[in-house]
Amino acid sequence: MIEETIFSKIIRKELPSDMLYQDELVTAFRDINPQRSLHVLIVPNRHIPTVDDVTSEDEAALGRMFSVARKIARDEGISADGYRLVVNCGEHGRQEVPHIHMHLLGGEDVGPMLNRRN
Ligand code: AMP
Repeated sequence: MIEETIFSKIIRKELPSDMLYQDELVTAFRDINPQRSLHVLIVPNRHIPTVDDVTSEDEAALGRMFSVARKIARDEGISADGYRLVVNCGEHGRQEVPHIHMHLLGGEDVGPMLNRRN
């Protein structure tokens, strides 16, 4: 079992965060280093390190992450203009925190999906 990360402590409220939502499956809080006007992280409460560790038992939590992203986008008033959801996985995906998280980015045009190679 890979050691839990700072996100587990945020989920258990042992560390402070700007938490927007929590239920029995997922937690959402503002990113500490926002990359766009709105930058929220949505995480499963259970410690799943990466997408590569997902099992069928996680499907309810992973599905809930999308419906919570939609709710937060509506609550924050950005749903009509659109937004981006990003999930990084592992080294090549440049995942920094090994606890699955969905980035919700918006409040402005977030730009092209990836830097073009050519
Ligand atoms: P990733 O590169 O996909 O693993 O993204 C990790 C994200 O976690 C980054 O956007 C960080 O700014 C964010 N982050 C790290 N520590 C915290 C924290 N204590 N509270 C909120 N966001 C955090």
